Amino acid sequence: MVRLEKINKYFGKLHVMQDIDLEVAPGEVVVIVGASGSGKSTLIRCVNGLEEFQSGRIEVDGNELLPDGKSGKSLQAVRTEVGMVFQQFNLFPHLSVLDNVTLAPRKVRGWSRDKALETAHRLLERVGIEDQADKYPSQLSGGQQQRVALARALAMEPRLMLFDEPTSALDPEMIGEVLDAMRELAKDGMTMMIVTHEMGFAREVADRVIFVHDGQIVEEGPPQEVLDNPRQERTQAFLSRVL
Ligand code: ATP
Ligand code: MG
Repeated sequence: MVRLEKINKYFGKLHVMQDIDLEVAPGEVVVIVGASGSGKSTLIRCVNGLEEFQSGRIEVDGNELLPDGKSGKSLQAVRTEVGMVFQQFNLFPHLSVLDNVTLAPRKVRGWSRDKALETAHRLLERVGIEDQADKYPSQLSGGQQQRVALARALAMEPRLMLFDEPTSALDPEMIGEVLDAMRELAKDGMTMMIVTHEMGFAREVADRVIFVHDGQIVEEGPPQEVLDNPRQERTQAFLSRVL
């Protein structure tokens, strides 16, 4: 589903991705962990073309992203097929929940109002907030807003979902409801790449955990290996701080 080949990326002199190779299979759930500034966000932002890179290539469901913004039409295809949920919910504040969820399918996919509405109601029900459909984002709790953001991303029928610390901005009592929705999505077979500090969630849901340090993948494997029996000293040091 996703293949990164020898990706190098710089911010000025800072080498934030160093020869990154990574493959994600259809239906696989990959959790990315690592210290602040290690390059986790940059990595997943490259996968949907939000960041450019300087060498290597990325393939997402058959669409190729090339260095230095030379991807051409495939960039649009990737952005349409990949859903993303951020730490900040980024909902449109002047639109109702329902309009937030139906906007992109109508504009980008050209769906009829009826089809978009039907899909939105189904997705809002799936994430447990059907009763909030007519509210505005400011009238919702953080956990509810993040579930709207998830429903909005799913409305585009993505082939791949990216998450960048989706629960980090939430009050503790709301983290569970967002993780539950993500867990359901994983069960349904969605391919997911998730940056998170929720190690319990990673242990339970991830097929594979990737530990990133200074722009490199230092260690990867099933959660039982990487989280419970890390081989690399840097992984051990990181985990001793977060666990
Ligand atoms: P965190 O856990 O704090 O979110 P991260 O692992 O997601 O960290 P990135 O945001 O990918 O880290 O950043 C990797 C490095 O690149 C950091 O040193 C950061 O300061 C730098 N960086 C990120 N974005 C930019 C930018 N737009 N311009 C310059 N440097 C950047
Ligand atoms: Mg980040």
